[in-house]
Amino acid sequence: MTGILRLRHVEGELARASRLPMRVRQGPDGVHLFDRQSGLNVLLDEVEVPQVAWAQAPRQVSVALTNACDLDCPFCYAPKTASVLDAGRLRSWLDELDAGGCLGVGFGGGEPTLYRRLPQICRHAAERTGLAVTMTTHAHRWTPRLVDVLAGTVHFVRVSVDGVGATYETLRGRPFAELRDRIGLIAATFRVGVNCVVNAATLPELDAVADLAADAGAAELLLLLERPARGRSGGGPDVAEDLHAWIRAYRGTVRLALGEGDTGGLPIAVPLPGERGLRSYAHLDAAGTLRRTSYDSDGEPVDGRGLLAALDRLQQKEAA
Ligand code: SF4
Repeated sequence: MTGILRLRHVEGELARASRLPMRVRQGPDGVHLFDRQSGLNVLLDEVEVPQVAWAQAPRQVSVALTNACDLDCPFCYAPKTASVLDAGRLRSWLDELDAGGCLGVGFGGGEPTLYRRLPQICRHAAERTGLAVTMTTHAHRWTPRLVDVLAGTVHFVRVSVDGVGATYETLRGRPFAELRDRIGLIAATFRVGVNCVVNAATLPELDAVADLAADAGAAELLLLLERPARGRSGGGPDVAEDLHAWIRAYRGTVRLALGEGDTGGLPIAVPLPGERGLRSYAHLDAAGTLRRTSYDSDGEPVDGRGLLAALDRLQQKEAA
């Protein structure tokens, strides 16, 4: 989520916000206004919203459209079983999320551009709902034609950039020069962010990744400590410590974000302290199972009762 402005301290933003067709979400922290085009958030935290009026849906839901991917990154934790979401069911779940006060969905996978119905699903979300549509992609399948097809229906594109030059090429198995070209292509039309998996190989290249993000006009650099997967041990405490030191020393212009649970003792902004856990975020996998995060093994299949019913069952399980 883009940083939230606390209205009482940023009065100038009120005039700007009042000119935008902002989406309204009510919750334990007050009234949250969000503009999906610009990513602007405004929180009216002096308003006390009764619990009965709180949004039912999570604030943000990531959706693995497909498990398919044409890359084979060594740290990939996406399931390797062949699964793909049915577009008709997905449309109805997006409608449910929209009605339940969700602010945005993040399409991923696998690689979301391998999902055959991607343009139709993005168009549905953009035109039939108020949801912000973001996408996480390795970028190598993007062409001018795909840009044209998705223009106006995707609000933010996150590109995975793990290190630069030979490090990137070793991890992703694709030419780094080609990645740079694709980022330029995407950034000419969409608001972009950069995601970087941080491990012992990419850590020394964070300055270069941050420079690349700044050159591309990225709004955010999301740093994701590598998780244990596929026999690899993940980033580990030493990498986490060095990452935190790098963040403390960072003076660049691109806003930084960290994966949930990776913040350690860093002084981070928690703009919505009342919206934690499933109230804030949920993940729908490519088999149609709703989970707390993409790393969680426990989940609830979304059946004919709908996505919010699955969310309710998951919340009850967590509370038990
Ligand atoms: S691009 Fe993403 S989904 Fe594909 S193999 Fe790499 S980490 Fe996994």
